[in-house]
Amino acid sequence: MMIGCHSLVWNGSLDPISFAESARMTSEAGFDLLEIPLMDPWSFEPQQASRTLAEHGLAATASLGLTAQTDLSSEDPSVVARGEETLNKCLEIVHDLGADYLCGVIYSAMQKYSRPATAAGRRNSAEALRRLAERAGELGIRLGLEVVNRYESNLLNTGRQALAFIEEIGHPNVYLHLDTYHMNIEEPDLLSPVLAAGNKLGYVHIGESHRGYLGSGSVDFGAFFRGLALIGYTGPVVFESFSSAVVDGNLSNTLGVWRNLWDDSADLGAHANGFIRSQLASVASIDKH
Ligand code: MN
Repeated sequence: MMIGCHSLVWNGSLDPISFAESARMTSEAGFDLLEIPLMDPWSFEPQQASRTLAEHGLAATASLGLTAQTDLSSEDPSVVARGEETLNKCLEIVHDLGADYLCGVIYSAMQKYSRPATAAGRRNSAEALRRLAERAGELGIRLGLEVVNRYESNLLNTGRQALAFIEEIGHPNVYLHLDTYHMNIEEPDLLSPVLAAGNKLGYVHIGESHRGYLGSGSVDFGAFFRGLALIGYTGPVVFESFSSAVVDGNLSNTLGVWRNLWDDSADLGAHANGFIRSQLASVASIDKH
């Protein structure tokens, strides 16, 4: 099982020097994998990044949130086409990185909507994702739909909603991506969505209720990790934390990162790596009972 970290824990930029620092710190904190947010895929250079990852023995995944200009759930075909073009570019990058996972809010814009999703918008998103899943499959890449809270999308706010949408897409290469920070806001509990997902759960984000140090908030991690053990989950488990101490001009504002919850990324990351591995070791012993 790969334990990873989102690159915004280390640095707000993906230029080659910043990326090399993020990779070094990811590795030094004890993680196996670096998640790369491709908010601007046209400015990212995958060949150099791939060499940097290899130097540090790290695997990679990529994620992004679509914008109002690239919203697959729009009723405007030209907006949907821009979203598809963006995601196809991301697939090329993931392939060039030698990686096999693209996840995040890739089914709608990642933003506060002022009205519900429409039936036509939902259909546009499902149809585009079916085509993208086909292309991803040719490249050996899986797609993960990240469920987020109601202030960051109007389409998928719970795991069960996402499972129904994945059925509508009707392609085996699309998986559910759960994030404990969002689950803590929207789900009835931290266990039942994991059990409902079963083998459709493909990716996991580990975040606290305030997105700071793990264990210092109100997320029921015991229940969540127990669920992972009960379904035999073996996919990536990736730490996310955001503070105004490390800022990406677009992503931090979209996520509403206004407060400083930590200054020392190295300490935060090493703590999270230990916390996640400790939880996984605890639930792995359940089989012996
Ligand atoms: Mn997340």
